[in-house]
Amino acid sequence: MLPGSRERAVNIGAGMTPLLKADNLGYELGLDNLWIKNDSANPTHSFKDRVVSVATTKAVEFEFNTIACASTGNLAGATAAHGAKAGLETIVFVPNNLEEGKIFGAAIFGSVIKVNGNYDEVNRLCSELGDDRRWAFVNINMRPYYSEGSKTLAYEIVEQLNWTAPDNIIVPVASGSLYTKIWKGLNEFLKLGIIEEVNTSMHIAQPLGCSPVSTAFLNGESHPKPVVPNTIAKSLAIGNPADGYYSVKIANESSGKAIIVPEDEVSFGIKLLAETEGIFTETAGGVVISALKKLTESNIIKKDQQTVALITGTGLKTIEAIRDSITMDTIEPTIESFDETIDLK
Ligand SMILES: *Cc1c(COP(=O)(O)O)cnc(C)c1O
Repeated sequence: MLPGSRERAVNIGAGMTPLLKADNLGYELGLDNLWIKNDSANPTHSFKDRVVSVATTKAVEFEFNTIACASTGNLAGATAAHGAKAGLETIVFVPNNLEEGKIFGAAIFGSVIKVNGNYDEVNRLCSELGDDRRWAFVNINMRPYYSEGSKTLAYEIVEQLNWTAPDNIIVPVASGSLYTKIWKGLNEFLKLGIIEEVNTSMHIAQPLGCSPVSTAFLNGESHPKPVVPNTIAKSLAIGNPADGYYSVKIANESSGKAIIVPEDEVSFGIKLLAETEGIFTETAGGVVISALKKLTESNIIKKDQQTVALITGTGLKTIEAIRDSITMDTIEPTIESFDETIDLK
């Protein structure tokens, strides 16, 4: 059900991440049947390992010797790691304002080029570079294969819920590739008779500083209008989303909703998930948890509905986003200093 040969798959262990019953967060929000799909448990700590594994497998089949990408951050790490495993030359392009964790998390595997511009400019540059170089850009000329990899998230959720599709899935949206392919994966299982029905509402979560897809949905328009991103959730900072049109269409088809999360509520979502479920997610996850809260408060998601929130990346790569909201004491290595500083009695 994926392109590429299974025997020659470039595999660093992507996929089959935990689906955890989130009773503490559920209690906090008033939900009895809430689940977290924790895709930060992938090898390079984001869901991008799924898509890059498929794209790299095809790149090897096509006998490319260089693998590349235009990245909002997590893709860079996943591409560089799979490129290393496959023995390919690797070159990844990122916007220059990216978090350190994402830059070093990629540079350890291969070469990173920082571009003075936003993702949409990086993407355009890469499209032009790809014209006369035989490079496999995982999310540009390899995109049809790349995007198929996201279907595995849907397959796993269904399997982990004992071969049923949930009532709600909340998905962070950048280009819309992940969102649209989860829907495709669910419907493939339906067509094959692996599940009997799909009554899943597919909800879109975007941050206020880059919300072209949610905005189009909420305005009843079919084509998102491009924006210049300015958001703390850098992994979602795609102002001109390639699959935006299809995302709006699927939200309508599936009776999903679109949420716009204010920028200052992103770190609230990160903290809420951390304190209730022991999972430290990145900014995209903060957007998802804050969107989940809004969907619950407005009674769009109901108490007893089976609901899956996608956590697509780790907070250790976006320390910058929460640094100011965390305080810590430093003491001398003495009892006196401890007692003076910290009053726990
Ligand atoms: C890339 C990414 C997304 C969304 O990806 P699209 O498929 O482009 O919509 C969501 N979360 C994280 C953490 C990502 O890195």
